Amino acid sequence: MSTLLGTTLNRRYRLEARIGAGGMSTVYRALDETLQRRVAIKLMNREVLADSAQLERFRREARAVAQLSHPHIVGVIDAGEDEGRPYIVFEYVEGETLKERIRRGGRLPIPEAVAYAIEIARALGAAHARHIVHRDVKPQNVLIDEEGASKVTDFGIARTLDEEGLTADGRVLGTTDYVSPEQALGQPVTGQSDLYSLGVVLYEMLTGEVPFRGESQVAVAMKHVREMLPEIQAKRPEISAALAAVIDRATAKRLQDRYVNDAELIADLEDVLAIETARTGDGGGQVTNVLDSLPARKRSRVPFQLRHPRGTAPLVLAVLAIS
Ligand code: ADP
Ligand code: MG
Repeated sequence: MSTLLGTTLNRRYRLEARIGAGGMSTVYRALDETLQRRVAIKLMNREVLADSAQLERFRREARAVAQLSHPHIVGVIDAGEDEGRPYIVFEYVEGETLKERIRRGGRLPIPEAVAYAIEIARALGAAHARHIVHRDVKPQNVLIDEEGASKVTDFGIARTLDEEGLTADGRVLGTTDYVSPEQALGQPVTGQSDLYSLGVVLYEMLTGEVPFRGESQVAVAMKHVREMLPEIQAKRPEISAALAAVIDRATAKRLQDRYVNDAELIADLEDVLAIETARTGDGGGQVTNVLDSLPARKRSRVPFQLRHPRGTAPLVLAVLAIS
């Protein structure tokens, strides 16, 4: 493969390291020489330049994500073309992907997993509100920054619902581990499909493994169509019935049994977070940030000391708060 490392796109972005490679594009860490800061650049691969559908899809990613400004979505800074090759410039997220995090440390503490699910659901909610469906929600596409906050990226096959009819979905997913039944069957994909995938991501955060394995991507996809997810409480007994019910409802096969929208899922996840945090007493890191962002009504159900870990709450307040 010809290396582009060291070259500068449009006399501005110097490519410093390759950090990701897909069929359609390659992601580089780069230096923005004008602003003297690190950025991430997604550059379309030369081989697909001749494919006008792919070219259009790539340009669409830039336009779609540029609409979104959200604390849990990786921001688009710029886009351009260098010698005919389109590229997108993103804010650089120092850290690791959620997939790497799970591989490295195994399953997450329950409140942390729920906190991440809330952040991702809020990010998807912002996209869905603009009629943008992600279509490839998976932990490989969630970056965890140095503060521990999650950021969703790779709206590469995202499509606005208005455009849905324009192109047949010929794009092959990198993995079917998170695919919704309707997407696997080639049926219309909506925001509810993203919620299914998020339900599977939550399952993986809680158990350390994806629900289905198979001989091939197709075999796994068919399990998403036909089989119930393995019982999560059997894999991790301390998971509450309330949390298990949220996963069941997010990953329901039939759309009429699934969460209808992000708000419904978020409301249930927030309830679960308040309960789990009160129960396990875990208020560290990202959990505290998400707790701080809960509506007052829900926050009040969390013991005072967990809501204000750095404060000096008298014990009596903590007791009052849960009673
Ligand atoms: P694709 O999956 O289409 O190759 P992604 O946008 O998912 O493209 O990026 C691939 C990988 O590159 C990610 O899994 C991540 O490791 C890294 N990456 C992508 N965007 C960024 C970013 N903004 N900051 C840091 N790393 C990134
Ligand atoms: Mg990706």
